[in-house]
Amino acid sequence: MPEPLTEAEREVLDYLIEYLRQNTYPPSVREIGGRLGIRSTRKVASILDDLAVKGWIERTPARSRAMRVLALDPVETMPPAAECARFDDATPDDAVWMQRALEQARAAETVDEIPVGAVLVRAGDVLAESYNLTRTLSDPTGHAEMIAIRHAAARANGARLTGTTLYVTLEPCAMCAGAIVLARIERLVYAAADPKTGMCGSLGCIVQDRRLNHRVRVTRGVLEQPAGDLLRGFFHARR
Ligand code: ZN
Repeated sequence: MPEPLTEAEREVLDYLIEYLRQNTYPPSVREIGGRLGIRSTRKVASILDDLAVKGWIERTPARSRAMRVLALDPVETMPPAAECARFDDATPDDAVWMQRALEQARAAETVDEIPVGAVLVRAGDVLAESYNLTRTLSDPTGHAEMIAIRHAAARANGARLTGTTLYVTLEPCAMCAGAIVLARIERLVYAAADPKTGMCGSLGCIVQDRRLNHRVRVTRGVLEQPAGDLLRGFFHARR
């Protein structure tokens, strides 16, 4: 249990919690001081230090703004990194299909798109394969997974893709994870994890959320290195 708080610490903590209900990142020291009428930013910083020492918040030393309220209704503040219920081991075929998804990712790079590729497979047949097209289509929903799901569903003439496995070179985001659940995809295999937006094990795990009516088996890390290298190379070249 975290240690009890002084009145000033409680005030700061309450403000942090309220703020984090509406914002992804915590407020700056100056914002906290301004809101609570504490003139000295050093005073605010020392209160934050005390909250961290007492175990109420967690801070990342390299980035002073990166902090997380640990106690007090964590679901309503900043949710802690969620784990998928479990990850399955890769099957012998997984690397072969992921290689094909990587080829799609490389095709994306040739048209100056973020190199992410996806392949949707059922019983050894490719139903659809695609790559990220957000810039080309001026469409924020143009992720590789979305395009593959749309194409496969149109081809199958049905909104459900039961019995399929989706291979994707990057961990799906919230949108794609939602689409995977809606499409009733059976298995998801991804290469690189995405600590910034990944919702299949990194920031959360929509595809295995028990509250939803469909859950997906997940395997991660298949050809993680080449998929990650491709993305790093892409962003490095454009910096
Ligand atoms: Zn996505």
